[in-house]
Amino acid sequence: MNVAYLDMARGLDVAALISLGVLGLLGLIVGSLVKVKNNTTGQDEQSGLGGVEALVLVVVGGFLARTFIWLLLLPLNDVKSGAVVLGHFFFLIPAVIDDFIAIGGPRVLTSPEGLLFLATVIGAFTAMMDGVWRIHDWKGLGWLSFPLDMTWGLAGVNYGLLLHLVNFAWANHATETRHNGHRYQSGFRLKPTFAFTQGSVMSNLSDNPGTDLYRHEMTHVWQNRMFGPFYTLNYIGWMIFWLIPGLIAGATSKTATGASVGPGKGAERWCYFNCPWEVWGYAVQGQDRKAWGSELIWSAVPVIIAAIFVFGGITALCIVLYGLQL
Ligand SMILES: [Zn+2]
Repeated sequence: MNVAYLDMARGLDVAALISLGVLGLLGLIVGSLVKVKNNTTGQDEQSGLGGVEALVLVVVGGFLARTFIWLLLLPLNDVKSGAVVLGHFFFLIPAVIDDFIAIGGPRVLTSPEGLLFLATVIGAFTAMMDGVWRIHDWKGLGWLSFPLDMTWGLAGVNYGLLLHLVNFAWANHATETRHNGHRYQSGFRLKPTFAFTQGSVMSNLSDNPGTDLYRHEMTHVWQNRMFGPFYTLNYIGWMIFWLIPGLIAGATSKTATGASVGPGKGAERWCYFNCPWEVWGYAVQGQDRKAWGSELIWSAVPVIIAAIFVFGGITALCIVLYGLQL
Protein backbone atom coordinates (compact mmCIF):
# COMPACT_ATOMS: atom_id res chain seq x y z
CA MET A 1 0.00 0.00 0.00
CA ASN A 2 1.47 3.34 -0.96
CA VAL A 3 2.01 6.28 1.35
CA ALA A 4 -0.48 8.57 -0.43
CA TYR A 5 -3.23 5.98 0.09
CA LEU A 6 -2.42 5.59 3.79
CA ASP A 7 -2.41 9.37 4.17
CA MET A 8 -5.87 9.59 2.61
CA ALA A 9 -7.20 6.79 4.84
CA ARG A 10 -5.79 8.40 7.98
CA GLY A 11 -7.08 11.80 6.89
CA LEU A 12 -10.61 10.42 6.49
CA ASP A 13 -10.47 8.78 9.94
CA VAL A 14 -9.32 12.04 11.55
CA ALA A 15 -12.04 13.96 9.67
CA ALA A 16 -14.67 11.47 10.94
CA LEU A 17 -13.47 11.91 14.53
CA ILE A 18 -13.48 15.71 14.27
CA SER A 19 -16.98 15.62 12.71
CA LEU A 20 -18.20 13.50 15.61
CA GLY A 21 -16.86 16.05 18.11
CA VAL A 22 -18.29 19.06 16.25
CA LEU A 23 -21.72 17.42 15.74
CA GLY A 24 -21.84 16.30 19.38
CA LEU A 25 -21.10 19.83 20.61
CA LEU A 26 -23.59 21.34 18.15
CA GLY A 27 -26.25 18.85 19.29
CA LEU A 28 -25.58 19.69 22.94
CA ILE A 29 -26.03 23.42 22.33
CA VAL A 30 -28.91 23.41 19.81
CA GLY A 31 -30.73 20.58 21.59
CA SER A 32 -30.77 22.64 24.80
CA LEU A 33 -32.08 25.75 23.04
CA VAL A 34 -34.72 24.38 20.66
CA LYS A 35 -38.34 24.44 21.82
CA VAL A 36 -40.32 21.18 21.60
CA LYS A 37 -43.78 20.19 22.78
CA ASN A 38 -44.00 18.86 26.33
CA ASN A 39 -45.98 15.63 26.10
CA THR A 40 -47.80 16.29 29.40
CA THR A 41 -48.60 19.99 29.23
CA GLY A 42 -48.78 20.35 25.43
CA GLN A 43 -46.72 23.55 25.74
CA ASP A 44 -43.57 24.28 23.77
CA GLU A 45 -40.59 24.47 26.08
CA GLN A 46 -36.82 24.00 26.09
CA SER A 47 -34.71 21.70 28.23
CA GLY A 48 -31.04 20.87 28.71
CA LEU A 49 -31.98 17.20 28.48
CA GLY A 50 -32.55 17.65 24.74
CA GLY A 51 -28.93 18.64 24.34
CA VAL A 52 -27.76 15.62 26.34
CA GLU A 53 -29.95 13.31 24.25
CA ALA A 54 -28.51 14.78 21.03
CA LEU A 55 -24.92 14.38 22.28
CA VAL A 56 -25.46 10.74 23.30
CA LEU A 57 -27.19 9.93 20.01
CA VAL A 58 -24.35 11.48 17.97
CA VAL A 59 -21.81 9.19 19.64
CA VAL A 60 -23.99 6.05 19.56
CA GLY A 61 -25.34 6.76 16.04
CA GLY A 62 -21.93 7.46 14.52
CA PHE A 63 -20.57 4.28 16.10
CA LEU A 64 -23.55 2.13 15.00
CA ALA A 65 -23.45 3.35 11.40
CA ARG A 66 -19.67 2.92 11.14
CA THR A 67 -19.78 -0.56 12.68
CA PHE A 68 -22.62 -1.63 10.38
CA ILE A 69 -20.72 -0.67 7.22
CA TRP A 70 -17.51 -2.17 8.64
CA LEU A 71 -19.35 -5.49 9.18
CA LEU A 72 -20.54 -5.45 5.55
CA LEU A 73 -16.99 -4.74 4.34
CA LEU A 74 -15.50 -7.50 6.49
CA PRO A 75 -16.50 -10.59 4.43
CA LEU A 76 -15.60 -9.03 1.07
CA ASN A 77 -13.08 -10.85 -1.08
CA ASP A 78 -11.97 -7.69 -2.89
CA VAL A 79 -12.71 -4.95 -0.38
CA LYS A 80 -12.04 -2.13 -2.87
CA SER A 81 -14.51 -3.17 -5.55
CA GLY A 82 -16.97 -4.35 -2.88
CA ALA A 83 -16.88 -0.92 -1.27
CA VAL A 84 -17.94 0.64 -4.59
CA VAL A 85 -20.99 -1.67 -4.72
CA LEU A 86 -21.90 -1.04 -1.06
CA GLY A 87 -21.45 2.71 -1.58
CA HIS A 88 -24.08 2.70 -4.32
CA PHE A 89 -26.46 0.65 -2.16
CA PHE A 90 -26.30 2.78 0.99
CA PHE A 91 -24.98 6.23 -0.03
CA LEU A 92 -26.14 6.65 -3.62
CA ILE A 93 -25.69 10.42 -3.91
CA PRO A 94 -22.08 10.61 -2.60
CA ALA A 95 -21.33 7.42 -4.56
CA VAL A 96 -22.45 8.99 -7.84
CA ILE A 97 -20.35 12.09 -7.01
CA ASP A 98 -17.44 9.72 -6.41
CA ASP A 99 -18.05 8.07 -9.82
CA PHE A 100 -17.16 11.44 -11.33
CA ILE A 101 -14.19 11.95 -8.98
CA ALA A 102 -12.94 8.49 -10.00
CA ILE A 103 -12.75 9.53 -13.66
CA GLY A 104 -9.76 11.73 -12.81
CA GLY A 105 -8.12 9.66 -10.06
CA PRO A 106 -8.61 7.09 -7.29
CA ARG A 107 -11.95 6.56 -5.52
CA VAL A 108 -12.32 8.66 -2.37
CA LEU A 109 -15.88 8.41 -0.97
CA THR A 110 -16.45 4.84 -2.14
CA SER A 111 -13.06 3.56 -0.99
CA PRO A 112 -13.41 1.34 2.12
CA GLU A 113 -12.17 4.24 4.30
CA GLY A 114 -14.45 6.68 2.47
CA LEU A 115 -17.49 4.52 3.21
CA LEU A 116 -16.60 4.35 6.92
CA PHE A 117 -16.23 8.15 6.90
CA LEU A 118 -19.60 8.62 5.17
CA ALA A 119 -21.33 6.21 7.56
CA THR A 120 -19.90 8.00 10.61
CA VAL A 121 -20.79 11.51 9.44
CA ILE A 122 -24.22 10.71 7.92
CA GLY A 123 -25.13 8.60 10.97
CA ALA A 124 -23.92 11.22 13.45
CA PHE A 125 -25.56 14.16 11.68
CA THR A 126 -28.90 12.36 11.44
CA ALA A 127 -28.61 11.26 15.08
CA MET A 128 -27.92 14.88 16.10
CA MET A 129 -31.10 16.09 14.37
CA ASP A 130 -33.03 13.18 15.95
CA GLY A 131 -31.79 14.16 19.41
CA VAL A 132 -32.32 17.90 18.94
CA TRP A 133 -35.98 17.32 17.97
CA ARG A 134 -36.45 14.28 20.29
CA ILE A 135 -38.17 12.28 17.53
CA HIS A 136 -37.57 8.77 18.89
CA ASP A 137 -40.06 7.08 21.14
CA TRP A 138 -37.87 4.98 23.43
CA LYS A 139 -40.83 3.04 24.84
CA GLY A 140 -42.19 -0.11 23.17
CA LEU A 141 -41.07 -1.01 19.66
CA GLY A 142 -40.45 2.65 18.83
CA TRP A 143 -36.88 2.33 20.13
CA LEU A 144 -36.10 0.18 17.06
CA SER A 145 -36.46 3.23 14.82
CA PHE A 146 -33.08 4.63 15.86
CA PRO A 147 -30.84 1.55 15.37
CA LEU A 148 -32.65 0.77 12.09
CA ASP A 149 -32.02 4.30 10.77
CA MET A 150 -28.35 4.04 11.73
CA THR A 151 -27.83 0.69 9.96
CA TRP A 152 -30.15 -0.87 7.37
CA GLY A 153 -32.03 2.40 6.89
CA LEU A 154 -28.90 4.42 6.00
CA ALA A 155 -29.90 3.92 2.34
CA GLY A 156 -32.81 6.36 2.74
CA VAL A 157 -31.21 8.38 5.55
CA ASN A 158 -28.56 9.80 3.19
CA TYR A 159 -31.34 11.52 1.20
CA GLY A 160 -33.06 12.54 4.44
CA LEU A 161 -29.86 14.37 5.43
CA LEU A 162 -30.16 16.47 2.26
CA LEU A 163 -33.75 17.35 3.19
CA HIS A 164 -32.51 18.51 6.63
CA LEU A 165 -29.84 20.66 4.95
CA VAL A 166 -32.32 22.22 2.53
CA ASN A 167 -35.08 22.68 5.13
CA PHE A 168 -33.64 23.33 8.57
CA ALA A 169 -33.36 27.13 8.38
CA TRP A 170 -36.79 27.97 6.97
CA ALA A 171 -39.19 25.02 6.66
CA ASN A 172 -40.63 25.18 10.19
CA HIS A 173 -39.86 21.85 11.87
CA ALA A 174 -42.90 20.68 13.86
CA THR A 175 -42.45 20.61 17.65
CA GLU A 176 -44.21 17.33 18.50
CA THR A 177 -41.90 14.72 20.04
CA ARG A 178 -41.56 10.91 20.14
CA HIS A 179 -43.33 10.10 16.84
CA ASN A 180 -40.26 8.45 15.25
CA GLY A 181 -40.06 10.88 12.34
CA HIS A 182 -39.16 14.48 11.45
CA ARG A 183 -41.94 16.69 10.10
CA TYR A 184 -41.20 19.95 8.32
CA GLN A 185 -44.45 21.87 7.86
CA SER A 186 -43.07 23.51 4.73
CA GLY A 187 -39.88 22.77 2.82
CA PHE A 188 -38.67 20.93 -0.24
CA ARG A 189 -41.42 19.40 -2.36
CA LEU A 190 -41.84 18.11 -5.92
CA LYS A 191 -45.43 19.42 -6.19
CA PRO A 192 -46.92 22.22 -4.05
CA THR A 193 -49.65 20.11 -2.43
CA PHE A 194 -47.56 16.94 -2.05
CA ALA A 195 -45.41 15.98 0.92
CA PHE A 196 -41.96 14.49 0.22
CA THR A 197 -40.35 11.88 2.47
CA GLN A 198 -36.80 10.51 2.53
CA GLY A 199 -35.39 8.41 5.35
CA SER A 200 -36.98 9.66 8.57
CA VAL A 201 -37.61 13.18 7.21
CA MET A 202 -41.04 14.26 5.97
CA SER A 203 -41.02 17.57 4.11
CA ASN A 204 -43.87 19.94 3.21
CA LEU A 205 -46.24 18.12 5.57
CA SER A 206 -48.54 20.48 7.48
CA ASP A 207 -50.86 17.64 8.57
CA ASN A 208 -50.54 16.58 12.23
CA PRO A 209 -49.59 13.10 13.51
CA GLY A 210 -52.45 10.62 13.18
CA THR A 211 -54.00 12.29 10.12
CA ASP A 212 -54.36 10.39 6.82
CA LEU A 213 -51.53 12.04 4.88
CA TYR A 214 -49.23 11.85 7.92
CA ARG A 215 -49.82 8.08 8.10
CA HIS A 216 -49.04 7.81 4.37
CA GLU A 217 -45.68 9.57 4.82
CA MET A 218 -44.83 7.59 7.98
CA THR A 219 -45.43 4.43 5.91
CA HIS A 220 -42.49 5.50 3.70
CA VAL A 221 -40.34 6.16 6.80
CA TRP A 222 -40.97 2.59 7.99
CA GLN A 223 -40.66 1.08 4.48
CA ASN A 224 -37.10 2.40 4.47
CA ARG A 225 -36.44 1.02 7.96
CA MET A 226 -37.82 -2.41 7.02
CA PHE A 227 -36.44 -2.83 3.50
CA GLY A 228 -33.35 -0.60 3.56
CA PRO A 229 -31.61 -0.35 0.17
CA PHE A 230 -34.22 -2.66 -1.36
CA TYR A 231 -36.78 0.09 -0.73
CA THR A 232 -34.76 2.98 -2.17
CA LEU A 233 -33.23 1.09 -5.10
CA ASN A 234 -36.52 -0.59 -6.08
CA TYR A 235 -38.29 2.77 -5.88
CA ILE A 236 -35.72 4.46 -8.12
CA GLY A 237 -35.51 1.38 -10.38
CA TRP A 238 -39.30 1.30 -10.78
CA MET A 239 -39.37 4.95 -11.83
CA ILE A 240 -36.60 4.46 -14.40
CA PHE A 241 -38.18 1.25 -15.72
CA TRP A 242 -41.60 2.82 -16.36
CA LEU A 243 -40.53 6.31 -17.48
CA ILE A 244 -40.47 5.78 -21.25
CA PRO A 245 -43.39 3.29 -21.35
CA GLY A 246 -45.36 5.80 -19.20
CA LEU A 247 -44.56 8.69 -21.56
CA ILE A 248 -45.72 6.62 -24.55
CA ALA A 249 -48.84 5.35 -22.74
CA GLY A 250 -49.79 8.90 -21.77
CA ALA A 251 -49.27 10.22 -25.30
CA THR A 252 -51.41 7.49 -26.84
CA SER A 253 -54.22 7.24 -24.23
CA LYS A 254 -57.40 9.28 -24.17
CA THR A 255 -59.58 10.48 -21.30
CA ALA A 256 -63.37 9.94 -21.23
CA THR A 257 -63.80 13.27 -23.04
CA GLY A 258 -61.50 12.16 -25.86
CA ALA A 259 -58.58 14.43 -24.91
CA SER A 260 -55.06 13.04 -24.68
CA VAL A 261 -53.91 12.03 -21.19
CA GLY A 262 -50.54 13.55 -22.05
CA PRO A 263 -47.03 12.04 -21.77
CA GLY A 264 -46.22 13.81 -18.47
CA LYS A 265 -49.35 12.50 -16.73
CA GLY A 266 -48.77 9.04 -18.21
CA ALA A 267 -45.26 8.92 -16.77
CA GLU A 268 -46.45 10.28 -13.41
CA ARG A 269 -49.14 7.60 -13.12
CA TRP A 270 -46.97 4.64 -14.08
CA CYS A 271 -43.80 5.78 -12.30
CA TYR A 272 -45.42 7.22 -9.16
CA PHE A 273 -49.11 6.37 -8.62
CA ASN A 274 -48.66 2.72 -9.67
CA CYS A 275 -45.40 2.27 -7.74
CA PRO A 276 -46.02 -0.51 -5.21
CA TRP A 277 -44.51 1.53 -2.34
CA GLU A 278 -47.01 4.32 -3.16
CA VAL A 279 -49.92 1.90 -3.59
CA TRP A 280 -49.10 0.74 -0.05
CA GLY A 281 -48.88 4.35 1.20
CA TYR A 282 -52.18 5.37 -0.39
CA ALA A 283 -53.85 2.24 1.05
CA VAL A 284 -52.71 3.24 4.56
CA GLN A 285 -53.91 6.78 3.88
CA GLY A 286 -57.31 5.50 2.71
CA GLN A 287 -57.00 7.62 -0.44
CA ASP A 288 -58.19 6.46 -3.88
CA ARG A 289 -55.32 6.93 -6.35
CA LYS A 290 -57.85 7.58 -9.14
CA ALA A 291 -58.78 10.90 -7.51
CA TRP A 292 -56.09 12.51 -9.75
CA GLY A 293 -57.45 10.88 -12.94
CA SER A 294 -58.54 7.30 -13.60
CA GLU A 295 -56.71 6.49 -16.84
CA LEU A 296 -53.59 4.30 -16.61
CA ILE A 297 -54.03 3.74 -12.84
CA TRP A 298 -53.73 0.02 -12.08
CA SER A 299 -55.62 -1.89 -9.44
CA ALA A 300 -53.81 -3.97 -6.81
CA VAL A 301 -53.45 -7.21 -8.82
CA PRO A 302 -51.51 -5.79 -11.82
CA VAL A 303 -49.39 -3.73 -9.40
CA ILE A 304 -48.44 -6.90 -7.52
CA ILE A 305 -47.69 -8.83 -10.74
CA ALA A 306 -45.51 -5.98 -12.06
CA ALA A 307 -43.80 -5.71 -8.67
CA ILE A 308 -42.86 -9.40 -8.74
CA PHE A 309 -41.05 -8.93 -12.06
CA VAL A 310 -39.55 -5.43 -11.68
CA PHE A 311 -38.71 -5.56 -7.94
CA GLY A 312 -37.68 -9.20 -8.30
CA GLY A 313 -35.27 -8.31 -11.11
CA ILE A 314 -33.72 -5.31 -9.33
CA THR A 315 -33.43 -7.19 -6.02
CA ALA A 316 -31.81 -10.19 -7.70
CA LEU A 317 -29.35 -7.87 -9.47
CA CYS A 318 -28.38 -6.25 -6.13
CA ILE A 319 -27.88 -9.62 -4.44
CA VAL A 320 -25.75 -10.91 -7.35
CA LEU A 321 -23.64 -7.70 -7.39
CA TYR A 322 -22.88 -8.00 -3.65
CA GLY A 323 -22.54 -11.79 -3.85
CA LEU A 324 -19.87 -11.48 -6.57
CA GLN A 325 -17.70 -9.53 -4.11
CA LEU A 326 -17.73 -12.27 -1.44
ZN1 LIG B 1 -46.05 8.41 -0.96
